[in-house]
This record gives sequence, structure tokens and C-alpha cells, in this order.
Amino acid sequence: MTRGMTHIVGAGLAGLSAAVKLVAQNRRVVVHELARHAGGRCRSYFESALGLTIDNGNHLLLSGNRSALAFLDQVGGRQLLTGPQQAEFTFFDATSAERWVLKPNSGLLPWWIFSSERRVPQTGTGDYLALGRLLFAGDRDVVTDRIDSRSNVYQRLMRPVLLAALNCEPTEGSARLAGAVIRETLARGGHACRPLIAANGLGPALVDPAIAFIERHGGAMRFDSPLRALEFAGERVSSLKFADETIDLGEGDTAILAVPAWVARTLVPGLTVPTEYRAILNAHFKIAPPASLPKIIGVINATTEWLFAFENRLSVTVSAADRFNETEREPLARQIWSEVSKIAGLEIDLPPWQIVKERRATFAAIPSQNVLRPEAKTRWSNLCLAGDWTATGLPATIEGAIRSGETAAKLATGARV
Ligand SMILES: Cc1cc2nc3c(=O)[nH]c(=O)nc-3n(C[C@H](O)[C@H](O)[C@H](O)COP(=O)(O)OP(=O)(O)OC[C@H]3O[C@@H](n4cnc5c(N)ncnc54)[C@H](O)[C@@H]3O)c2cc1C
Repeated sequence: MTRGMTHIVGAGLAGLSAAVKLVAQNRRVVVHELARHAGGRCRSYFESALGLTIDNGNHLLLSGNRSALAFLDQVGGRQLLTGPQQAEFTFFDATSAERWVLKPNSGLLPWWIFSSERRVPQTGTGDYLALGRLLFAGDRDVVTDRIDSRSNVYQRLMRPVLLAALNCEPTEGSARLAGAVIRETLARGGHACRPLIAANGLGPALVDPAIAFIERHGGAMRFDSPLRALEFAGERVSSLKFADETIDLGEGDTAILAVPAWVARTLVPGLTVPTEYRAILNAHFKIAPPASLPKIIGVINATTEWLFAFENRLSVTVSAADRFNETEREPLARQIWSEVSKIAGLEIDLPPWQIVKERRATFAAIPSQNVLRPEAKTRWSNLCLAGDWTATGLPATIEGAIRSGETAAKLATGARV
């Protein structure tokens, strides 16, 4: 692929990441997005039930997410992420009401696993050494083939962490993908595990600065512009058919398809993509959290899995939440609030609430789906793919999406990947 116009279809983080990389190299770029806004599955919006601007889902980054942080540095959103100076995770057991704080030390040498003050209560050093088995997992292994699911380190640490990272139960989740997450975070020491959140929203931190960067560098954003079809001629894509116009690709023009897997499949003949998805549920409660409440709490033995304390609301994340797809919303909100009010020490009735379910939040990070992920390069010389569902080696995450955009941008400029 050579110098010409690059048409990027999809303004989620994968498409934005590709666009940022390309415009930074003075490449000509147009980003075409179906919706009236960018961000895809990672965006802020005004939620009228709460009268607040919130995110479509609580998103957590870790300081080891190198591509995401490099992207934020490049576009100028990094200062909008907040988190503790040291890696610290508060956990709460809803059955016993026990609380503890996990504190991996910063350096590579994990001396924290020798300290009962820093590791999970009722675990021993050997339990953590055994986690190394995840790093050498085979393609077909699920997490619990590599970690003892009866162990406390699994129940009290690895299950909640990997359930969130993979968005599926670790009993079915790919050990290969779990290993990749651990390799880039916990195995690199506490400095790679600091939790980071966009306290004032994903839009202001990740999306708006990226759009500003793209436009400042001569790129164009086109919203309300769904791609309907690709046309092919021999080895190349010859045109892009949008709802209201057809764009012919000249020699040197390229296309990056950064749409969700289920859309890409309808546009690219013969494309193999993951076909199973898992839901994520977020419950938002409009109430100011007590000042002493940690910003993030991992919860075990409850429906609530992670509790996020924002300035104007408490928000709960439940991963692999398909079991709630048909559940009535109000009883669910009450159930979750009863847990949250105990954790936060707020003895009050249900405040204004909203429950947001993203049914196809991520592809199912299970071995049989992971092998369906296509490479970014396609058999057409001027078409490549981006998205958290492409073969990034990571689960469907911000980090994976941004990295996929980097790979596609390299391919579009003819670089080897
Ligand atoms: C509720 C929730 C919570 C999450 N929590 C976390 C978390 O804590 N940490 C983390 O790292 N990740 C998290 N994720 C995952 C993360 O949001 C995704 O991995 C990432 O946003 C995917 O980006 P993407 O660009 O690959 O895809 P998308 O965001 O899906 O972007 C695809 C874009 O293509 C557009 N499009 C679709 N069809 C067309 C068409 N025909 N023409 C033009 N445009 C089209 C879409 O509108 C969309 O904007 C979460 C996801 C959800 C849903």
C-alpha cells in the first residue's frame, strides 16, 4: 500500500487510533462513521434518567496499557486519567464483609507476594508463583485448566480480575488471552498495574482529543455516514459505497475497516470473525459517594463485581452479564443498590438510577472464538482491518482496539507488521 488517501470506516478507538497514527505522518485521512458521534463502545453521553453525562460503561485502564497511554500522550488526553500513584486495589467480600487492599510493589521483583500485608488474605506465596502457569497456556486451555479454581487466590483475586479483563467466566475464558493480560500487567510489577480511569468521562479523555488531533493535522471526520458495501476489482477494493455517495479508490488509496466484527462480516466476502459475544451491565446511582470511599472496589460473592466512585454517582460493572438480559430492571437496580449501600455505608433508599446493558459488549474471549479472529491484513492489497476483535493477542479492550489501529495504520503505509 502506498501514499494516497486512506479511508477509515468506523470511529471507535480502533479507527481513531489508526487515523491519529496516519495524520501524524502527514497522510491524508477521512474517517467515516455511521453514528453522529465517535467513540463506538467507549463513549460519553447525556443520560436523561439521571440528568448526568455518563459513559456507556465504566472503563478501566491499567498503567501497563502501553498503546493506550501512548495514544493519550499523542492526542493530549493523558492528564484526564486519574488513579493512585501506586498499584492498589481494594476488595470487599459481600458474604463476610471482609475488606482488603492488594498492593503489588512497583518493581519487577514481586516481593509483595511474600508480604501478608500486601497480598490477598488467606493466600500464600506459592499461590502467586503458580499463576505463572497462565503465561505458558496453550490455544485450547481455559483459565481454570491452568489455575486451581478452588484456591483462594483464584476466588479472591484471579476470578474477579480475569472475569473483568476477558468479560467471560474464567472457567470458559481463554488462558492464552488471560496470560497476555497478566504478561503486560501483573508480571511487569506494580508500576504496570496502577488502575486509571477517565474520571470526567471517556469522551473528554479519549475521544474528543483524538478528533481534535485528527482535524488539526488535516484529517476529516464524516459522521452519519454508514458504509453499505465494498466493491472489489481483482486484488483491490475499487470503491466504498456509503448511504449517500460512492467513493472510488484511486491507485495508492487505501481503506481500513474499523467496524465491529458483525458488520465487517457482512462487508468482506469470506471473512472469518468471532460470532459469540458477551454482555456487560452497568448500574448507575446518582448520589455523591462518601469522601473516604476508594475510587474502585472489587467485590466478590455479589452481583456487583466492580464499584466505581465518580464525583456525582456510584457505578457498578457486571461482566459476562448475559444472565440479566431478560431481567426486569427495577428489581435488579434494587438488588445492586442493596449491595452498594452496604459497601459504601449509605443507609438510604434507592437514589435515581439507570441500568445500561451492552449486549454485544465484547466478543467471547473463549478459545474457540479466539481462533476465529482475523489478521489485520486481508487478501486485498489496499484493505486492512482494525478492531478489538482482530487478532491482537489481547482480549477486547481499549488497549487491543488502539493497538489494532496502530497495526492497520502501519499496513496502510506499506510498513511490515
Ligand atoms: C460496557 C463496556 C465496558 C467496557 N469496559 C472496558 C474496560 O473497562 N477496559 C477496557 O479496556 N475495555 C473495555 N471495554 C471494551 C472497549 O470499549 C472496546 O474494546 C473498544 O471500545 C472497541 O473499540 P473498536 O474501535 O474496536 O470498536 P467499536 O467501539 O465498536 O467501534 C466501531 C465503530 O464502527 C462504527 N460503525 C459500525 N458500522 C459502521 C458502518 N457500516 N459504517 C461506518 N461506521 C460503522 C460504529 O458506530 C463504531 O463507532 C468495554 C466495553 C463495553 C461495551
